[in-house]
Amino acid sequence: MKQSKLLIPTLREAPADAEAISHKLMLRAGLIRQLASGVYTYLPLGFRVLKKVQDIVREEMDRAGAQELLMPAMQPAELWQESGRYDVYGPELIRLKDRHGREFALGPTHEEVITSLIADEVNSYRQLPMTLYQIQTKYRDERRPRFGLLRGREFLMKDAYSFDRSWEELDETYRAMYDAYTRIFTRVGLNFRPVQADAGAIGGEGETHEFMALADIGEDTIVVSENGTYAANLEKAEMWWEAPAASDAEIAPMDRVHTPGVHTIDQLCAHFGAEASAFMKTLLVLVDDQPVAVVVRGDRELNETKVLNALGGERIELADNAAVERLTGAEVGFAGPAGLAKVKLLVDREVQAMESGIAGANETDYHLANVKPGRDFEADLVGDFRNAAEGDMSPDGSGPLKFYRGIEVGHVFKLGTKYSEKLGAAYLDETGRRQDAIMGCYGIGISRILSAVVEQHYDDNGIVWPEEIAPAKVHIIPASAKDETQMNLANELYARFMAAGIEVMLDDRDERAGVKFKDSDLLGIPYRVVVGREAAEGRVEFKARTAADKETISVEEAFERLT
Ligand code: ATP
Ligand code: MG
Ligand code: MG
Ligand code: MG
Repeated sequence: MKQSKLLIPTLREAPADAEAISHKLMLRAGLIRQLASGVYTYLPLGFRVLKKVQDIVREEMDRAGAQELLMPAMQPAELWQESGRYDVYGPELIRLKDRHGREFALGPTHEEVITSLIADEVNSYRQLPMTLYQIQTKYRDERRPRFGLLRGREFLMKDAYSFDRSWEELDETYRAMYDAYTRIFTRVGLNFRPVQADAGAIGGEGETHEFMALADIGEDTIVVSENGTYAANLEKAEMWWEAPAASDAEIAPMDRVHTPGVHTIDQLCAHFGAEASAFMKTLLVLVDDQPVAVVVRGDRELNETKVLNALGGERIELADNAAVERLTGAEVGFAGPAGLAKVKLLVDREVQAMESGIAGANETDYHLANVKPGRDFEADLVGDFRNAAEGDMSPDGSGPLKFYRGIEVGHVFKLGTKYSEKLGAAYLDETGRRQDAIMGCYGIGISRILSAVVEQHYDDNGIVWPEEIAPAKVHIIPASAKDETQMNLANELYARFMAAGIEVMLDDRDERAGVKFKDSDLLGIPYRVVVGREAAEGRVEFKARTAADKETISVEEAFERLT
């Protein structure tokens, strides 16, 4: 790569709206440019890094026995209606119509597509287990796209889906994926931690882990016990609704309620003009000070029925502010900063004192009315880890908790039969009986990794790429482009590195040495060879990007060190 021919538009200053250090550096180093909010172009050097990350992910997924395919981003709405997620997914799902008025969605994830494919193409237990993956552009209309590639609306994800014949088989597949993820994040140079994550539904059958890159900019809080045996997302650690129902007899007085749709707490808070926060786990919906519904943070999503009940049975369009104001009137109170909604944030003791409510998973027909915490759920589990603080004993008793900020770079999830049941992904077992495939899903934020790595690898002068994903290994810089001896040696070295299969970039621009060095530091290529005053003696200045000082060594030695 000759720099004079490459599009690397470096900047002295980052645009004022870039907050995250990685966002600033990636713009300044000419790796990415924004087209629209949360939508980016990868410029040539940025694209090289992106491809390296993809290569590592491919290698490790293939090694783990997964097969690659590529599914469409454009997905028919019917598929999402079949799974029940079309109405549930909310405004994050980008919807569009074709010229015939048929509805489509731009895939934020591919459970529906892959499960319907397997439903059509796999029939026998002999074909399973099977894990399929793709590296593909995803679309999510994020409420707050920000921090460059960390939270995009169009971004690159690796998503894998496994189909097993038993939970035991899934355990093995899950383990293989977990191990592959550990290798991937190690290879890309991240300081990361796998943590227990929140499955998102009461009694959710799926074990789930998130892989968190440690960084202050991270939007998640993770808690780790001193000796490291316990590590979880704070959301998970604080979940108080893990206990099963105390007994069948006590469940009896509760009614199952139909649930036409759900909304996330984030959406609700956005609607009511309040900020969702990590501590907001329990919302109680009140009418005339009477509790009518409870929404648990572990639920993740606020059920529309609960709101309906709260507001006297009238349907509200959460997209329509005026409607809510009309319905809620003066009685509305929100314990958050806005003080406007008919929804109140409660602490655990208050919830325990509550008479009854509705609870359930984010699924149609999976809700119970007249639930009483303490009676229907073990009371002593209520609140144990609510508002966990640094220094609290970890849930497994392994030591006091420390808090860190993390960026979710990967997520592995045991799904069970949630999608296979609905979309008909069944196979015939040895005895000829139809069985639903047991599924798992596994995501990696490929583009997010770039930002996460930069958050962890930079100094005052720029990016410091880990070698495995750097845009090149060696940066050759002739101090003066006008000096023929220097240019000749630089060109010779460049040709030798290329012949040896070493990725090399030559700064052949006619710029001042200072400008070239500054750019070089900013770009963060791991090794720099400066061809300067001692070129005639065959000596060059050698410096690793991480080293404080340069050394003057022979061309031969420089070559040897890098091959
Ligand atoms: P987050 O909690 O950050 O919103 P998520 O839990 O919604 O992420 P998943 O559905 O688990 O994301 O998707 C798998 C992976 O895709 C995530 O672990 C993350 O690395 C990546 N990812 C998710 N949303 C984005 C985004 N908006 N921009 C870039 N990467 C993303
Ligand atoms: Mg998300
Ligand atoms: Mg998440
Ligand atoms: Mg996730």
